[in-house]
Amino acid sequence: MRKLTIIFVGLVVALGTAAQKNENPLNRNNPFFNEYKTPFQVPPFDDIKLEHFLPAIEEGIIQQNAEIEAIIKISEVPDFNNTILPYDNSGELLSKVSRVFSNLNGANTNPEMQKLARVISPKLTKHGDDISLNPELFKKIKSVYDRKTTLGLDADQLRVVEKIYNDFVRGGANLSVADQAKLRTLNEALSKSSLQFGENVLAETNKNFRLVIGNKKNLNGLPGDVIEAAAIQASKDKMPGKWSFTLQKPSMLPFLQYAKNRKLREKLYRGYFMRGDNGNSSDNKKIISEIVQLRDEKAKLMGYPNFAAFVITENMAKTPETVDAFLQKLWVPALSKAKSELKEMQSIVDKEGGHFKLQSWDWWFYAEKLRKAKYDLDESEIKPYFKLENVQNGIFYVANKLYGISFENRNDIPIYNPEVVPFEVKEANGSHLGVLYLDFHPRDGKRAGAWCTTYRSQKYRDGKKITPVVSMVMNFTRPAGSVPALLSFDEVTTMFHEFGHALHRLLQDQPYDRTAGDVPRDFVELPSQIMENWASEPEVLKVYARHYQTGESIPDALIAKLEKSRQFNQGFETVEYLAASILDMKYHTPANPSIADVRLFEKVALAKEGLIPEILPRYRSTYFTHIFSGGYSAGYYVYIWAAVLDADAFQAFKESGDLFNPALAAKFRELLTKSGSDEGMKIYTKFRGKEPDIKSLLQRRGLE
Ligand SMILES: [Zn+2]
Repeated sequence: MRKLTIIFVGLVVALGTAAQKNENPLNRNNPFFNEYKTPFQVPPFDDIKLEHFLPAIEEGIIQQNAEIEAIIKISEVPDFNNTILPYDNSGELLSKVSRVFSNLNGANTNPEMQKLARVISPKLTKHGDDISLNPELFKKIKSVYDRKTTLGLDADQLRVVEKIYNDFVRGGANLSVADQAKLRTLNEALSKSSLQFGENVLAETNKNFRLVIGNKKNLNGLPGDVIEAAAIQASKDKMPGKWSFTLQKPSMLPFLQYAKNRKLREKLYRGYFMRGDNGNSSDNKKIISEIVQLRDEKAKLMGYPNFAAFVITENMAKTPETVDAFLQKLWVPALSKAKSELKEMQSIVDKEGGHFKLQSWDWWFYAEKLRKAKYDLDESEIKPYFKLENVQNGIFYVANKLYGISFENRNDIPIYNPEVVPFEVKEANGSHLGVLYLDFHPRDGKRAGAWCTTYRSQKYRDGKKITPVVSMVMNFTRPAGSVPALLSFDEVTTMFHEFGHALHRLLQDQPYDRTAGDVPRDFVELPSQIMENWASEPEVLKVYARHYQTGESIPDALIAKLEKSRQFNQGFETVEYLAASILDMKYHTPANPSIADVRLFEKVALAKEGLIPEILPRYRSTYFTHIFSGGYSAGYYVYIWAAVLDADAFQAFKESGDLFNPALAAKFRELLTKSGSDEGMKIYTKFRGKEPDIKSLLQRRGLE
């Protein structure tokens, strides 16, 4: 810790003489300042040390400022080549280092890195504002924008000009000087609060809670691999001989599903849903009030009635009203389905002589029983067919069948944690397409959930294509002792989902940085969610779902059961998701943006919609990282919006009678490749020949 402080002091001094960058003694050994000598120029993770980030970020900011100064200084009339293109290409070093930093801070962090994030984050926010609020730069951009139709630009160039101009406007370029100053203060405060929010959730998920069991009797009902994993966790927690359960899903969900001890199920679930709401140093309630207030102020400053309106105007949905109406269309049938699911489960409780009313922590346990009773299907019966490596083969198989691309494990590609598995991705003709990292299991320094990100996005420099470096980060069940990692079907679809994002990143091919892969938020889950469809197709299951001991394909009878049970619990799944989406919308369209009591706000908001107490929103406010520290504020709805698209798009493959129809696959690849080149709906209808129909989604979920 002390060493770091010294480095920071050194940096402040170095900053004063910024231009003489070669005199900074840190530079020579800092990998960010040199061209990567690794295969495909991926980040040299083994050489990157914590102390390299800040100098490289500082220098990246200086370099981009210099690049912008150079644009401003050009005396010729602004045009695409002397203004837009150099701006589009600017900030190379900053992007190089900040991507590595933020990706590692999400997937492999530690207290020192989090501390550094608190230093770096405001610098990046300020730098972003310095660019958007640079009047001379904006004048030049605006000048090109105002004359865009007379400059002989092609469609791609035109779109880049419009996008960049719009970024400036949304960044406050048109505001008065006084309002710009206000905006800076708001952005700074927001970036601090959301960082703190995420850190608190990380601590509450991984550190602040354990369910420790010493008496074997309390493990009744749990499958062997779950018990083994809990024993390993207990050893890690320095309590050998006991069993330890965490709030990470691979640990918590099986307990909720199978543990017969109802009291302990409650204890564990309570631990989960009270995260960030415990009145301790990781409590998020006050931060939420701050964020809501700040966002509302920002939206009003920008001329919008609320933050949702400010965000959604960029999306396919265009207005919060459209989103609200859309959510309601699904809410009513989903809630009624969930209620009938509850009734069925309550009757199991009653039949067993339970004498209690089913509560939220009972849902998984009785859903599992119901699934068994109704479909004779037990999750532990299908898990042996979903060994992690086999599912990985499955995603690669589908991509190969659709697009001809292949994946080669390359041990010479550096990784940031020994658990990460790197691949080279190749086109059908063998040419290099990109690099893909797979990072499967939970760790203390990894945030919860699953996501896909890039260390480098596809781009062009001097006419030469630079290939992407993509990473999929997940939190799947670990191998435990002699048992390999056997995934739940939910984890299986998550792998297909994130792989869909990865394919989008790998296949995108656009001439300019600004529009490469740039799609509205309510479009971005189409490439991911459509992949989930292939995961459960019998034809595909037969290929990848193989028993981990016998190697045999999943039997037809089990596939039939899976098929039959597909709509099982969909009322619950849809309701818990929609409840979170509605909550998100309420926070970002508040009648009164000063929320004194977050718990009460949440309660009232959901009660008004008629949410039943047996179901909690998928994320309660205090751990809703998507909206309070991720990029999904006023945007959690996008998953189900895009579900309309993916259900409709997959229907095209179904209708053709060929799940891998080459003509359709080529068209879908075109959609992925060119996704940033036009409005979302136009890109979509180009693929489908018509606008999407909600019918396929309602059918899929049994909500008609
Ligand atoms: Zn996604």
